[in-house]
Amino acid sequence: MSFRIPRISISLKLIFTVIIFALLLVVSSITVFRLSSDKKPRKHFEEFMRKFERNIVSNIGIPPDTLKAKEICDELGIEMRFDSPNMEWASDKKVPNIEDIFIPPHLRTRFDRGEPITVIHNSIPYSIFHYPEGIFIIQPLNPSSFFKPERAVIFMLIAIVIIITLLYLLLRYIFSPLKDLSKAVHQIGDGNYNVKVDTSRKDELGELAGSINTMSAKISNSVKAKEQLLIDVSHELRSPITRIKLGLELDSPKEKIEEDVNEMEKMVSSLLENYRADNTLADLKIDRTELVSLIEDTIAEYSANERIKFEKPNGEINFKCDADKLQIVFRNLIDNALKYSNGDIKISITEQLSEIWITFEDNGIGISDEDLKYIFEPFYRADRSRSRSTGGFGLGLSICKKIVDAHKGEIEIKSKINEGTKIFLKFKTEI
Ligand code: ADP
Repeated sequence: MSFRIPRISISLKLIFTVIIFALLLVVSSITVFRLSSDKKPRKHFEEFMRKFERNIVSNIGIPPDTLKAKEICDELGIEMRFDSPNMEWASDKKVPNIEDIFIPPHLRTRFDRGEPITVIHNSIPYSIFHYPEGIFIIQPLNPSSFFKPERAVIFMLIAIVIIITLLYLLLRYIFSPLKDLSKAVHQIGDGNYNVKVDTSRKDELGELAGSINTMSAKISNSVKAKEQLLIDVSHELRSPITRIKLGLELDSPKEKIEEDVNEMEKMVSSLLENYRADNTLADLKIDRTELVSLIEDTIAEYSANERIKFEKPNGEINFKCDADKLQIVFRNLIDNALKYSNGDIKISITEQLSEIWITFEDNGIGISDEDLKYIFEPFYRADRSRSRSTGGFGLGLSICKKIVDAHKGEIEIKSKINEGTKIFLKFKTEI
């Protein structure tokens, strides 16, 4: 049983990365904060408050000895205010007096009973001690006095270095194939088409690697096919040229020489015709065309038309298209079916809903699955030696595809070696 790695897109990977690192940041910030803070046991707070109260009273008395009170405030890093009908004193003007502090109702009763309470005012927790002689308001320690910024900075720096290193390593892993891909593209640019990039990654970069491999294989095939074509064309032209030269030397009859010249002309013009069709696709001459009679007209051009069986539908099928270009497609497909089979070839056309289907079927030699992958590439021929004898240049199907694409249609080939080939043309009626 083979294990399949699920495809995870790069964006998803980045999202995971950001989430993981955001979590790491939060956890490390909390840890840094904890490590750089002195632990103050909260449960002892009440007890601390009572001791504090006793200490204050015994040390500074009520009403307070302001000198002693100031001393204690400086020593502990706190601020204090005492309010009574006879005396108003504060270690710092910023400590609010009791009228300014809002005491919530649930604390009010405790305050009235004379118990110590803690009230938040302007985000600062004030401890309030209510005596019959007056009220003490105590502003607690400034947090910065127990926060160690230098420790925080060191821990933060360590955390940042670790996080950035991890982030760098992870991103380097995610984008590692990019280096190979760009190297491969450069090699292809330099004319080395035997490039193979690793496609094991299950994400967009893996897909891109696959596309680069296919692209280089296609370019390689196309270049090889062109080279082969050059060899084939020169070879094919050499025979009639040699015959003409010989004929001229031996004073052969004019007709023989004319025959050879015609053969050469046919070869060159078919090559040119295909190129021309390719280059004029941008300006299609779209006209309402009756396809059944267009197919019949095309069949009528063939002297061997008794081999072509057209399953003519009842009625007309109209389509807005460039009739001349479509005729090139029909001719190429009929030529191929006649060339690569000995029996009858079947042509049919149907219109259903808003789609027109035209099929060309033969029982000939067929095309292998491997060749089918490249069959629409210019100059690609399934079997070069075979095609030479049939006189093809491997341009027909590539031109057909371009014309069909220009009509926003589809061309599909189903073929089996030694069983035959069926080619489907599909067009949408509104183009
Ligand atoms: P060619 O001019 O060589 O026929 P095409 O582009 O029309 O060029 O076809 C490309 C190749 O596809 C051909 O060389 C041939 O090997 C194969 N082929 C095309 N049509 C058929 C068919 N009906 N039966 C078998 N092989 C075919």
